[in-house]
Amino acid sequence: MSRINKIPAFWRRRSLKFWLATGMLMSLAPIFISAMAGYVLYHGAIIQPLVEVASKQRQILQPLQSVQLSLWDISESVIDFAIDGEERRKIAYQNKADQIDRDLEKLTAAMQEQGFDISTINQTQDEWRELSTLSGTILSGESLRANAIVGEEIEEFEALINRLAHHLETVHDAVRIRNENTHQQALASLTLSEYLAATGLALSILGALLGVVVINRSLVSSMDQLAAGSMRFSGGDRDHRIEVQIPRELANVADAFNQMTKQIREQEDTLERMASTDGLTGLYNRREFDRLLAEEIRRAERYGKPVSLILGDIDHFKSYNDTHGHQAGDEALRTVGQTLAENLRETDKACRFGGEEFVIVLPECDAQAARQAAERVRGAVQARVFHIDGERTAQVTISLGVATSTGNGDTPDTLLKSADLALYRAKDHGRNRVIASV
Ligand code: GH3
Ligand code: MG
Ligand code: MG
Repeated sequence: MSRINKIPAFWRRRSLKFWLATGMLMSLAPIFISAMAGYVLYHGAIIQPLVEVASKQRQILQPLQSVQLSLWDISESVIDFAIDGEERRKIAYQNKADQIDRDLEKLTAAMQEQGFDISTINQTQDEWRELSTLSGTILSGESLRANAIVGEEIEEFEALINRLAHHLETVHDAVRIRNENTHQQALASLTLSEYLAATGLALSILGALLGVVVINRSLVSSMDQLAAGSMRFSGGDRDHRIEVQIPRELANVADAFNQMTKQIREQEDTLERMASTDGLTGLYNRREFDRLLAEEIRRAERYGKPVSLILGDIDHFKSYNDTHGHQAGDEALRTVGQTLAENLRETDKACRFGGEEFVIVLPECDAQAARQAAERVRGAVQARVFHIDGERTAQVTISLGVATSTGNGDTPDTLLKSADLALYRAKDHGRNRVIASV
């Protein structure tokens, strides 16, 4: 019985390539995914907003600052003109005034585009128009002749410029606040991306571990099973079966290995059988008899039980051969062997001793029972009809000598000698008989 749970057939059909790819994918996918997510987030939520902030800042702040600087310039030109009345002040003023017109236009367009509240900038535009009208009056030079008027106009001019500068500052603040918000959002995204990176790293480690488990389960442990199984087989464990279910290729190797070991086992069994049995009769051979007898005498001595030996020799077998031919002789030997086996206990071991001689080892069998067994065998051989060919039949008799050991120091040799002596006497007394040694 396998102690490994059966893996469903679907998975068992998957190839080595599949398991390797799955393992690698499990290890690498989280890294790719977190890298991609990180890139998208970093680019979309951090870099892009910052780039946009910079560009938008430029669109608004550049004209705004330009207007602020130009205001100081025109203030200088107008006031200086009020003091010295020089013509070049007018030209300088006009240049800066044109610049302010252009910059205010740009500023208004940019703020409108970026969705700012443009009421302040509209107000600034109105104030600029007012300021440029007043500047025009001062620069016309008429008021220069009356210092009191020019003083009033300059005061009004300065108050207007301050208001304008103040409103421009308000616009500046609005833009700054919005930039700070965008900055905060980008920073929040940065924090989020850090969390995501940490999660991605954790997932990558988990994925790598899972990948290792998959590769280990599908490949390494299966390889180990194969190696361990081969070692056990070469170490002599002939019944060990290798249980590999995945990957398919290694499962096939394991199947082939199990098939091969089964064949080797069967061949070994066959060889063992061949080495211990006689080819003609199928009984145990002489070699196995020697082993069996020694073992049974040892056992009998140890447990104080008797063991008997029957040595049988077919009577006048030479003339049987001469009369019916060698082939018929072989057939007769086979039939005698079969008759022996049929008339013995399961525990008795019938062997071919050599030629037309047989020997039977009877464990735990005393002299009387052994004699009865020999008599049974003799009667059965005599009663048996031996077929020569389709029509002719013949009869065969056998002489048997019986010897029994009762644990009194007998050896295989002495017991065999006793049985042989008894057999010799059976022959001598006219054959087809049983004689027990005394
Ligand atoms: P006895 O009653 O005294 O035993 O006479 P016997 O003829 O049986 O004895 P002997 O030893 O003279 O002859 C034994 C014969 O058994 C000689 C041999 O041809 C025959 N024999 C021995 N082994 C085989 C065998 O494997 N096949 C065949 N067909 N005959 C065999
Ligand atoms: Mg003989
Ligand atoms: Mg004989």
